[in-house]
Amino acid sequence: MADRVFFAVCEGRVTEYDYLTLLQNLHGAACSFRIDMPSPGSRRDDMTPEQVADFAVRVAESDDDQYTEIWAIYDRDQHVGIPRALERLARKAPKVRVAFSHPSFEFWLYLHFAAYDVSQNGSSQELVRRLNQQEAWARYGRDKRITQARAADLAPHIVTAANRARGLEKRCAADDCTHVRPGAVCGLLERDPGSGMGALIESLGIR
Ligand SMILES: [Zn+2]
Repeated sequence: MADRVFFAVCEGRVTEYDYLTLLQNLHGAACSFRIDMPSPGSRRDDMTPEQVADFAVRVAESDDDQYTEIWAIYDRDQHVGIPRALERLARKAPKVRVAFSHPSFEFWLYLHFAAYDVSQNGSSQELVRRLNQQEAWARYGRDKRITQARAADLAPHIVTAANRARGLEKRCAADDCTHVRPGAVCGLLERDPGSGMGALIESLGIR
């Protein structure tokens, strides 16, 4: 039995859930965690940020303390509803947490292969192009599954990717980044590129 049970709801239907399943298979037993997710039949592609937030809030409200943390995982892709979604989720903090990737989850995947800190202006095109250069990832984009071969590429570099993502966040927090921002500290929407997935890895206890 896992000591800690997490819940995660994601904007996409395939890649993020495949990745979470990989984390659980690789590290769940050793780090004593399990990640619950919406049932495959209820997963949908292109949920809006509000729908992801609604789902996470609903789980939080019926939680009964079974979950250590509830994570909402989404992208900059469709940004219209993001500020409102973040506000909703913030009201349920610290139980509900957000892993936000800018411009997309592909940035998080690419951090497993290389450090990268070039603004993408909301487009995932360059990141997909870079992923496609890896043999197992040549068709990534048309096929968004984390196949066994892709999982084998990612597995040894999860902690490295988390450190890279955390490093970018720390630079923003220390005012050591190049982002243009309205406030004193970069908000999630200014962190281009960036990913909150490093915080999830840390919280799961994967080191
Ligand atoms: Zn910044």
